[in-house]
Amino acid sequence: MIKCMGIVLSIFPYSESSLILKVLSWDRAQISIIAKGWRKKHQPILRFVEYEFTLYEPKEEGLYLLKELSQSKDYSSYASTSTWAAAEAGAELCSKIIISPSDSKQYYTLLTQYLEYITPLQENAILIFWRLMLRLFTMMGIGIRLQRCDSCCMTREPFAYDASGEIICQDCLQKLSWSDRYTPISPTSKKVLRLLPEIANHLEDIHLLRSDVAEINQLFLSYYASHQKQTLKLKSLSVLSQFY
Ligand SMILES: [Zn+2]
Repeated sequence: MIKCMGIVLSIFPYSESSLILKVLSWDRAQISIIAKGWRKKHQPILRFVEYEFTLYEPKEEGLYLLKELSQSKDYSSYASTSTWAAAEAGAELCSKIIISPSDSKQYYTLLTQYLEYITPLQENAILIFWRLMLRLFTMMGIGIRLQRCDSCCMTREPFAYDASGEIICQDCLQKLSWSDRYTPISPTSKKVLRLLPEIANHLEDIHLLRSDVAEINQLFLSYYASHQKQTLKLKSLSVLSQFY
């Protein structure tokens, strides 16, 4: 039997009375836990709540079995529906990437700080979500340099990007004859990309259109796909994008 801290990312009903919990744990990365008979108990389990779990380890590679839990910290209330959607997107992102148990604590800290940070925000939480992506990519060893042209390798304002998330500056794009593979970046998106590392100081001054949101999502997802050789589909990010 083990004790471990974890935050519940998602919950699925299982059989008549049980639940399956997808949890990001403090020191074992993502784990799945079966809570047998839990739907008949009076103690509800909530998403985005951090618990201390008492678990039986899986026999082989499989599900941990829940013995008991106690609530530690609650990250389940947000100032607006769009901010709730941003919490969902962060949780889904952390459930999909590969995290090794030895790096688990770093990712766990990043996610809980993210959820805590967005809690009071009324709007624009997607900006903090993109900052989360930026930080996660760096932790994963695929850091994205948003102010560097991938063609001339100089520090330049991004002007356009392609289907692999490569960024190009205006000068380089003008020199190319095959420039139709690039999608231009809007003025608002350029501003977001420039300010992203310290975007929390600029939440009030950015007014995103749906097209800006689509563009930045696309840039990050394309970059991820080409560097991880795997597509990242985030349903909750599509939901979040509809608030813009
Ligand atoms: Zn360039």
